[in-house]
Amino acid sequence: MDRPRELNVTVKDRRRVRLKFALAYPSPYSAGISNLAVRLLYEVINNREDCLCERFFFSEYGVPPLSIESGAALGDFDIVGFSMQHEMDYPRMIDMLRSSGIPIESGARRSQVVIAGGPSASSNPAPLERFIDLFVIGEAEPVLGAMLDLAVGGDYASIRGLPGIYSRGGTAERLHVAALDDAYHSVRQVHTPSAEGFPGSFLLEISRGCSRGCRFCMECFLYKPRRQRSPGRIGAILDEGMPWMGSRRVTCISSSFFEHSGLIEILSSMRDRGLHFSLPSIRVSDKGDDLPALLAAGGQRSITLAPETPSERLREVINKRFDEDALLSCLSKYRAAGIASLKLYFMLGIPTETDADVECLKPLLGRIISAGFQPRSIHISVNPMIPKSNTPFQWAPMIKADDYARRLKRFTRICSGLGIRRVESMDHRWGEVQAFLSTGGPPAADALRLMSEDIASGGRGDLGSWRRVLKAMGRRLGELYAPWGIGDTLPWEAIKGSVPKSSLAREYIRSCGVADEGNR
Ligand code: SF4
Repeated sequence: MDRPRELNVTVKDRRRVRLKFALAYPSPYSAGISNLAVRLLYEVINNREDCLCERFFFSEYGVPPLSIESGAALGDFDIVGFSMQHEMDYPRMIDMLRSSGIPIESGARRSQVVIAGGPSASSNPAPLERFIDLFVIGEAEPVLGAMLDLAVGGDYASIRGLPGIYSRGGTAERLHVAALDDAYHSVRQVHTPSAEGFPGSFLLEISRGCSRGCRFCMECFLYKPRRQRSPGRIGAILDEGMPWMGSRRVTCISSSFFEHSGLIEILSSMRDRGLHFSLPSIRVSDKGDDLPALLAAGGQRSITLAPETPSERLREVINKRFDEDALLSCLSKYRAAGIASLKLYFMLGIPTETDADVECLKPLLGRIISAGFQPRSIHISVNPMIPKSNTPFQWAPMIKADDYARRLKRFTRICSGLGIRRVESMDHRWGEVQAFLSTGGPPAADALRLMSEDIASGGRGDLGSWRRVLKAMGRRLGELYAPWGIGDTLPWEAIKGSVPKSSLAREYIRSCGVADEGNR
């Protein structure tokens, strides 16, 4: 790819450092440049005089990635560190190694150390442990400095003994930052004014984790307990970071912004600094009447809300309750403040769901429209409920493809009957691949190796590739994902320090009254 126009790039003389670190993001540049973990790691590693960090992004299967900073190849670095946000990154990650001439199997490598971290890889490393030498399990900040010290000295064997570091056959305790105010926040953020995503925005992490406990949500259960930065610390971060930006725009990163005890104080101080700011999503909240006006004053023109299901009964099942009168009142305030467009996220296939639950969509959307949002300004996204590791729904079955198709058709018809035309949905087959990789063990690793071979012989990593891979394994799409039983040993049990399996099981059973129905 052509070198993008970026601010705050660090280019170092590789002859003057002792450790060359390739920070690899197995998704396109436009996604990676909007990722706070990439900005943070890049800055922390480059802040050390003895280290150099250059970034790599995925462009196309079979095309060796080159670093943004110098055009160097992955093989020119001592460490290749992958930031894994999502299960669908796995085939791209392996292809970045293969296309760069780096052996994909950990045991076959001699000169590079390949590390992975991020939510999906550290939730369940099993599908990747054949390909990755070392995993950073959980939040990287507590171990990053010690890891770099040892790597600079070439002592990779001792890195294996650090807390939170996992390698095949071992165990590890999940790492957590104790106090967010004490954790480093990226201030000299590398970014491009022209990228998609959050163009020219300063990414500001307000809090980490969420205490709501929605039973499908991996982020919630991995990043417990919820922690928040104080308004004073946030002010200091903005004072230090904004002069490095070419804009006055801030994007707040938090999955539980509305639980922050200093919410109004933080937004007011950003408004008083003359900043434009936005939140990725909002919540039905009783945080006072000031919020919609503050967000509108900060430049926000559209809001995102995730009701997940139109059915009140199913909101109990997933543990995401809200009162529809409160929703209506909340949306009316945003509309009155001048916010005109709305994006809504829904899932189909929540445990115990029936066709009748979909029928609740019409009255719910009717109420949303009555709050003042024009049907043409409403954008809806639907996906199947995807069971994820380390959540109560890790044992849940996935909705069958034909049930999903039927309910989705009904769902779309209700939307179009109300004049809502912008409805996008995920293909059930991709949802199934995601569930397989999130909860998989050795068979998922076998599938990834075969996928890499398929791509190397011209496959495109698409559903056609998955069909061929699964055929070679004697399996097929539609039967790929089978839930674990509650009594089964799960592939990620070597990772300690997560919410105990017994608590997750209790939550699952409480949610839908199931007995052990696993059938792997
Ligand atoms: S509110 Fe959002 S982030 Fe929090 S648990 Fe529910 S889905 Fe996850």
